[in-house]
Parts: sequence; C-alpha cells; structure tokens
Amino acid sequence: MEDYMIRVLTKNKQIRALAVRSTNLVEEARQIHKTTPVATAALGRALSAVSMMIALEKSGEKVGLRIIGDGPLDRVIAEASMDGEVKGFVGNPQIDIMLNEKKNKKKLNVKKAIGNGELYVRKMMGLKEPYESKIQLISGEIGEDLTYYYTKSEQVPSSVGLGVLVDTDSSVKAAGGFIIQLLPETPEETISKLESNLNSLGSVSRLIETGITPEELLDKVLEGFPYDITKVTEVGYNCNCSKERTLEIVNTLNVEEIKESLKEDGYVEVTCHYCNESYRYNEEYLKEHLEREW
Ligand SMILES: [Zn+2]
Repeated sequence: MEDYMIRVLTKNKQIRALAVRSTNLVEEARQIHKTTPVATAALGRALSAVSMMIALEKSGEKVGLRIIGDGPLDRVIAEASMDGEVKGFVGNPQIDIMLNEKKNKKKLNVKKAIGNGELYVRKMMGLKEPYESKIQLISGEIGEDLTYYYTKSEQVPSSVGLGVLVDTDSSVKAAGGFIIQLLPETPEETISKLESNLNSLGSVSRLIETGITPEELLDKVLEGFPYDITKVTEVGYNCNCSKERTLEIVNTLNVEEIKESLKEDGYVEVTCHYCNESYRYNEEYLKEHLEREW
C-alpha cells in the first residue's frame, strides 16, 4: 500500500483537514537510523506531522520541526519540502530504556523519551528570512504539542493526532495521522460536534493499525461533515543531499580542523544526518569551493 496524504475542505467551508498514511516512510526512517521502538515512534510521529504541515503552507518551501527535550532521546528533527522531500533524525536513535521499564504497557513512552523542553517550527520561504516560532512542550507526545502550537502560536484552533505502531520485530506496522483546523467564524455547534467526534475516536495508532486509509480516517474525524478532497500527494522518505549541499557542514568546521583531516586522511568526510550518506572532500575540491581563508 502506497503512502499518501490528502487535504480536504468540508462542504460548509468551516473545517480544513489533512490526513496521511506514512507506514513505509517511517519504516524507511527506522532502517536508515536503526531506531529502537520508542525512537521510531517519536521520529515517526514527527515525520508524519511534517508531511502534512507542509500542505498547510501557501508559500512556504520547507517546514522544519525541531523538538529539543531533556529526556534521553535528546532531540527529534523532521523536515518536509514542497517538492516532496520528507526527512528527519533523532539525537539518540538507540535508546531502549523506556521499553524495558514499561514492558507491561504496550504504548511506547515517547513523552518520557523526549522529556521537558521546547518545540520549534521553522518555515523557509525562498530568499526571505526563515520564520521560526517556539512553544514549551505541554505533553511531549508531539500530537498534543502541535495542537497547542497551532492553536496558540498560529491562532488557528486545531487538533493534531499522530500514531506509529511498532511491530514485535521492531518494524513499523502502521503510521499516520491527521490535522484538523477550524476556519474563521466557525459556529459553536460545529465545534462541539467535532469535539465529540474526536473524543470518540480512540487511539490513532490503533485506528491506523486496522489499515485505515486517510479518507476513512477523516470520515471518522469529520463524521457529519461532508467534504471535498482538494489535494492528494504521495509521500515518502526522501533526502536530496548532495556533495555541494553538504559542503555547508564542512563550512561550519574551523580551518584547523579541516587542515588536520586533510593531513591525516587526505580528505574531509561528512555524513548527512538525514540519510547517512557520506561525502569526501579533498584539498583541491575544498580550495576551489570553500569560501574561506586558508
Ligand atoms: Zn542526505
């Protein structure tokens, strides 16, 4: 089954919604980063979120989500671009403590893995300065934090549901989610009907586990509100790094470090955080491309 995202608008023009199935995308992230189940769940929720968040932007070319916590996972980074790129990583992909501590509980403890901290949303729009805003984490489960972000920081009443279900062999059994947003001047009766739908929804992971499609997920969330699908996009894990782009990382090293690597190895090697691809730069290449004093 293909991963895809849909964007819809209710026929009464009061609710905008998005839903995604991201099972293969998150499984690919797990294989690249060799994440343990709790790290897979955290990264998978963030990746599912950005794959929808980008479709809420009118002019944004990229949306970045950064969650920096004091828990053992350290950080969760995810990014999506208009051209279909979705990628991410976590600070400590191998953390496993959570699972052992909560063996009797089926739910992976993402909250504990992340801890207390901040969530940043960064929007990059071409040549304009990137726009970034941050909130304090209110839950650490990511979905609730994004609900809070949209409602408080962007002033759009929203509800974000994210779910990643990890199988007994640690592979991703199912992943996906939804974002619901109220458009201006939505009447109270719409809000209370929507709230009652959301309250009876249950766990998003469990729903996704049943092989539910994005359409079926929104049929439940938006029960009683007929809608039109305004956009359908395929989503997948995709990093567009290259030797040229990754040179930016070399540029953050100081000249002494660069010289030392060149002397020791004959090249400077940089590994992309998002896809683990390694690039090697020799002295000739660096002298030609790096705008630095040697
Ligand atoms: Zn890459």
